Amino acid sequence: MKIKKTTSASGKIIKNFFLVILTFIVILTLFSSLYSGQQAPKQITLNDLANDINNQQVKSISVSGNTVDAVLKDNSNVETQKEVETSLSDTLKNYGVDPKTLSQIPLEIVNESGWKYWAGILIPTLVPLILIGAFFWWTFRQAKAGANQAFSFGKSNIKLFSSFKDRATFADVAGLKEAKQELMEVVDFLKNPKKYLDLGAQIPRGVLLLGQPGTGKTLLARAVAGEAGVPFFHISASEFVEMFVGVGASRTRDAFSTAKRAAPAILFIDEIDAVGRERGAGVGGGHDEREQTLNQILVEMDGFEKDAQVIVLAATNRPDILDPALLRPGRFDRRVVLDLPDINDREAILKIHGRNKPLSKEVDLRQIAVRTPGFSGADLENLMNEGAIMAASKGQKEILQNDLYQSIEKVLLGPERRSRTLSKKEKEITAYHEAGHALVSASLKHADPVHKISVIARGQAGGYTLKLPLEDIHLKTRKQFMADLAVAFGGYSTEEIVFKDLSTGASNDLQIASDVARKMITRYGMGEKFGPITFGKTQELVFLGKEISTEKNYSEETALEIDREVEKLVKRAYDAAKKIITQRRKTLDEIAGTLMEKETIEKEEFDAMIKKSGIKPVEI
Ligand code: ADP
Ligand code: MG
Ligand code: ZN
Repeated sequence: MKIKKTTSASGKIIKNFFLVILTFIVILTLFSSLYSGQQAPKQITLNDLANDINNQQVKSISVSGNTVDAVLKDNSNVETQKEVETSLSDTLKNYGVDPKTLSQIPLEIVNESGWKYWAGILIPTLVPLILIGAFFWWTFRQAKAGANQAFSFGKSNIKLFSSFKDRATFADVAGLKEAKQELMEVVDFLKNPKKYLDLGAQIPRGVLLLGQPGTGKTLLARAVAGEAGVPFFHISASEFVEMFVGVGASRTRDAFSTAKRAAPAILFIDEIDAVGRERGAGVGGGHDEREQTLNQILVEMDGFEKDAQVIVLAATNRPDILDPALLRPGRFDRRVVLDLPDINDREAILKIHGRNKPLSKEVDLRQIAVRTPGFSGADLENLMNEGAIMAASKGQKEILQNDLYQSIEKVLLGPERRSRTLSKKEKEITAYHEAGHALVSASLKHADPVHKISVIARGQAGGYTLKLPLEDIHLKTRKQFMADLAVAFGGYSTEEIVFKDLSTGASNDLQIASDVARKMITRYGMGEKFGPITFGKTQELVFLGKEISTEKNYSEETALEIDREVEKLVKRAYDAAKKIITQRRKTLDEIAGTLMEKETIEKEEFDAMIKKSGIKPVEI
């Protein structure tokens, strides 16, 4: 962004140049119209005027400066210039005008004072000067701004939130009890530093907030500052690193010195993994710059005086890749973990974000919390907002429970795309595919219950089967993974059995299934053959959060074995899915038929269908 501005400075100069020219032209036209207001008099020579006077042709004469205007008997105007510094009568006398004749003509001497006189002198000389001056001023200002941008990148884009309006407190943060408790200490120190210093206590220097995106790390950091009533400086570590080497380090210095000047204060470094990843472990360019920035952060944190009242909070969702040097005592030695909210916390978060929204009396946020395991605080905030939007778009005055239910799916899967029309055949395939997922899910003991099936396109998906765990899960068992695998194959095997053909609609399912199966073998030790051992050290690309390479710490033979093991798992799950679909074809047809007709099936209706068909969930 900034660089772009600098290069476009020359473009600006050209633009200004045209602006100046334009102003110039406007002024010129203004003046010419001013002067040509009356009929321009005919220009004659002094000699002619003398002749006219002698011939009694002149009615009146007026002199203004060196300009002589005469009105002739035929009422026409003539104009001429007299000699400078001589009076008109003297001049005319020299041209042979009889003073007597002249004295009979009314002579008016117009004093040329007033703005017109000065304007006549000043404008022709000053306007160009002013315009040239203005042009240079503009140009220099532009150039200077450009240069400033080029030279100011050492300054951090540090943001200060100290206005009381957007000040957060712990009351704005739902749940996160342990995190708040740990941070209370920080708050207390910022409020009464003396209490701690008198006892010779080591002041916490840095606190690392760990948690998945949207769990409230930024919010909590702001709340700490809010509770302590100290300034809150916020900078994102990704802003440290720019195009030029050395910028990050100087920005770091700047951020720390700004915070120190405002002490007691909180300096919050968001997304510290952007610079704080383990040194030397990078791929791609630019990690020199990261390392320098990281080193500078370390230097700054070591350089705090004993009683400096600046506490550095940092946030990351990737503690695993942080450089150990950052975590040493005296640096970010305290770690506060922010978990995804459990059901009670979800309800509390929903309450917080429903505070200033008109919720209908029937709204039961507990029920929403029940249906949203795995949602982060940010997701829940988004959900409430979507609910409000949905209610508003329908012209309601209040948000209804149903608006919130629908928002859950919107947040999970993206907006409905009703406009995407399916052909009859496509609709049939989609209906059977989703019915297959749902049926397999309902037939397995360890699969998540089906909440909704739909053949309305949503986000990327052509149709979807919404399955949600009954409760928050922190651990996943092998049986659950197996059930997941089988459910993933539910759509694929249904298409195979029903249509004796396959569509591209299952590609995402297959992708997910093979990822899960491979992880079960290589990471979780859930294969039959290998037992408790993991394979491969994965490296992930920080900024994308994607695995880019897996260091292979096993032999080719083992690789082959791993592939076989993965295959075995996949086969078992796939066979289970196929068996269920074949045995329960009647129920499948019924679900698919209802789907084609109604497009969506809710949990209650689906449960009733399953119950009617007398299916007993099994284990695989
Ligand atoms: P992070 O920094 O961890 O990615 P944020 O702090 O930016 O997440 O959270 C995003 C938004 O989600 C916050 O602005 C807040 O409105 C909401 N939120 C997240 N966690 C909570 C919580 N525990 N209580 C209330 N709101 C929350
Ligand atoms: Mg954040
Ligand atoms: Zn599918």
